[in-house]
Amino acid sequence: MNIGKTGNIIVISAPSGAGKSSICGAVVSLDKTAVYSISYTTRKPRQGEKNGREYFFTDDKKFKKMIRTKAFAEWAKVHDNYYGTPKSFLDKTLKSGKNVILDIDVQGGLKIKKSYPDACMIFIMTRNLRVLKERLSARNSDSKEIINIRMKNAEKELSFLNKYGYLVINDDLQEAIKSVQTIIKSLEYKIQRNRKYF
Ligand code: ADP
Ligand code: 5GP
Repeated sequence: MNIGKTGNIIVISAPSGAGKSSICGAVVSLDKTAVYSISYTTRKPRQGEKNGREYFFTDDKKFKKMIRTKAFAEWAKVHDNYYGTPKSFLDKTLKSGKNVILDIDVQGGLKIKKSYPDACMIFIMTRNLRVLKERLSARNSDSKEIINIRMKNAEKELSFLNKYGYLVINDDLQEAIKSVQTIIKSLEYKIQRNRKYF
């Protein structure tokens, strides 16, 4: 635990279907020093989703008020819905010494990097686009049309790869989870966090 130290922001972005939810879920449940930031969104809950667990579900009016009152550390419009990271939870959790995992899109990731330049930026991807399409089809949650839109978006998102610090290829899920855990662990040893010793 980082007693007396602030936590780290860990941004995890990935094209839809690359395994971000599977990886983030496992990392948060295995790592007691990491907390998942629950975003606000205007999209409708999917089957099985619960308000306050996956997201705080809200409407356009309330979301826009939160933008005006600067309640978000970042927000973006993704696939026609608004998504935002609540700033008060983020700052409070960092102050308590915990690491905060932000599962957000590349637009949001870049905004966080601007406001919090020390944020650890991780991009998750499958070995190639063909495997991504296979995973999206196998997940069986989207129509062919939606899958094609997601594949187009994936190419756009990949063009921002060089803005990220780490790339984890999700071939084997357990290996990918371990890789993300290793990256998070390595943050403990950053010089900026250990200056007091020398
Ligand atoms: P995302 O949150 O990035 O959209 P998911 O975590 O929902 O992606 O994963 C997409 C699909 O791929 C899911 O059906 C998931 O079970 C599966 N999956 C995730 N990682 C792997 C992997 N390494 N190998 C095979 N299938 C995987
Ligand atoms: P989904 O609707 O499938 O849960 O998420 C769609 C996309 O929105 C994913 O890429 C997810 O990472 C992103 N997202 C979720 N929460 C936020 C957020 O607070 N801010 C931003 N910028 N993107 C988010």
